[in-house]
Amino acid sequence: MAKMGILIDITKCIGCKACEKACKMRNDQPLTLDEHLSANAYTVVQERLPNTYVRRMCMHCENPTCVSVCPVGAFTKTAAGPVVYDKYKCIGCRYCMYSCPFSVPKYQWNKVVPYVQKCYMCADRIEEGSEPACTAACPTGASIFGERDKLIEEAQKRIKDNPDRYVDHIYGLHEVGGTSILYISNVEFEQFKAPFNIALPDKPLPMYTWAALEKVPTIVVVGGVVLTGIWWITSRRGEVEKFEAGSKQEHWWRFGKKQEGVKEKKEDKQ
Ligand code: SF4
Ligand code: SF4
Ligand code: SF4
Repeated sequence: MAKMGILIDITKCIGCKACEKACKMRNDQPLTLDEHLSANAYTVVQERLPNTYVRRMCMHCENPTCVSVCPVGAFTKTAAGPVVYDKYKCIGCRYCMYSCPFSVPKYQWNKVVPYVQKCYMCADRIEEGSEPACTAACPTGASIFGERDKLIEEAQKRIKDNPDRYVDHIYGLHEVGGTSILYISNVEFEQFKAPFNIALPDKPLPMYTWAALEKVPTIVVVGGVVLTGIWWITSRRGEVEKFEAGSKQEHWWRFGKKQEGVKEKKEDKQ
């Protein structure tokens, strides 16, 4: 399957928040107006300059640090582009939250059994040949979905055809090795600050993670992860099972597939 992505054209965004609402409805989240990303807001539209709106969401990095730092492989970069999360593997260490260069993953601090939460690019809809709920809802074409290569061509064309309208920069084309979410703008990206961290290198951040780990004795890393992991997995599996006995099943793209050995419940087939 071709690698998909989303192109966000800041010049076309009117701040209507239809994308936010569509995402919340898709994910059964409270229909509140949110300023910041949270466990109940996978995307937010922020007015960063007068009448200039920046939509934030997971960047679905080509080489994600959340994937590289997770000791149990709870995050996966899929072939189609989305970076998805598997709650059945997650041990709650939250390394993904600390390592994300765009501060995207959030934690359900107020839940008895908390999970990490973030946009999953509506991976199930993409697999079915559809598009994410947010891009389908955007009335102006400020957020469009398509093959990443074609979106890059479209972004380049808009910039070339309208040099007075756009700055000559596609954010996400090279940053941290490239991202599936791409932005074009009429304002230099550094003026917006987050999520456009201009100081980020073009080299994928996992390369730095591995470079750093190479200098740490293996026994320290492996020993620490194993001991922490055993404790977390043991206690967390019990919590998850107890919690799920009384809760409805969420979609697996958000929360993961059941692992071998974990008893399947009736709700999982719905
Ligand atoms: S933006 Fe953060 S959470 Fe999203 S894929 Fe990149 S590293 Fe992972
Ligand atoms: S891709 Fe899906 S989960 Fe992500 S912001 Fe859009 S609607 Fe929400
Ligand atoms: S739906 Fe489109 S125009 Fe409206 S806030 Fe979202 S990206 Fe902007």
